[in-house]
Amino acid sequence: MILINKSSDLLSYISEQKQGNRSIGFVPTMGALHNGHLSLIAAAKQKCDIVVCSIFVNPTQFNQESDLASYPRTLENDIDLLLSVSCDVLFHPNIVEVYGNTLDKDSSEDYGSFIHQLEGASRPGHFDGVVTVLRKLFALVGPTDVFFGQKDYQQCLVVKTLIKRSFPQIVFNLCSITREEDGLAMSSRNVRLSEEERRLAPQIHDNLQLVSQYWNKEQWQLGLNLAQLNLKKEPFCFEYLCACDPFSLAELNVFQSNAIVLVAVQLGSTRLIDNIIIVP
Ligand code: AMP
Repeated sequence: MILINKSSDLLSYISEQKQGNRSIGFVPTMGALHNGHLSLIAAAKQKCDIVVCSIFVNPTQFNQESDLASYPRTLENDIDLLLSVSCDVLFHPNIVEVYGNTLDKDSSEDYGSFIHQLEGASRPGHFDGVVTVLRKLFALVGPTDVFFGQKDYQQCLVVKTLIKRSFPQIVFNLCSITREEDGLAMSSRNVRLSEEERRLAPQIHDNLQLVSQYWNKEQWQLGLNLAQLNLKKEPFCFEYLCACDPFSLAELNVFQSNAIVLVAVQLGSTRLIDNIIIVP
């Protein structure tokens, strides 16, 4: 695996690969890698000639300084994991390489009304930071394919919109959620959970499953209510659990057979998100 820190070095590496007509799969991450990230690399390896993974803790997408400061950084372990799945390139730039000297943000304001819901409502400015960094990274890496996790479903819709508008040559690939054996969605933030919080955290997925079990015309609202009540109990600090249309992300007020149920809760000082796609 080649480790690249400088944008200029990445650009020359990529242009060599493009001369050889190689397809380039790109997996952007913020590091603290786990098997969820590795599943994206594996999907990219299957489809593309060269796989580039970036590790960059993007300061503009954090709406809380404390979250940015405490975000886990485990570069040595990340490198070992990337080697274990034969990733071709790790791009690990510093902030200046990506942003220059000013942390200016693009706006995602006109990406659609879904931008202000769910994560957009809970984390003002978050998607502005996401589109800003991805625009820069996509321009540098020039991928043929990008790979994103369903875990950040709303982010996937934002990325699809960015691609449609500015990078129509890129193919978007959605990868399913990798979970721990007890159902907890893998997340870089899970390491911040205390033993007791870690024991309770699988309830998030249990309650998404509960909603899917009640998913029929008569009982869907009952299922949502039960799951909400369960996740409103201490020590969970409830943010949202709602059923939405998978394309528009509009919250459902009448039953439809295909839906996505998205959830965000805080457990102690750790914010966790998850979702489940319900298909007829
Ligand atoms: P992050 O490092 O959190 O920015 O995540 C980088 C990419 O990995 C994003 O596309 C995430 O959706 C994806 N990802 C994070 N957790 C998981 C998971 N448990 N399963 C699959 N993909 C994931």
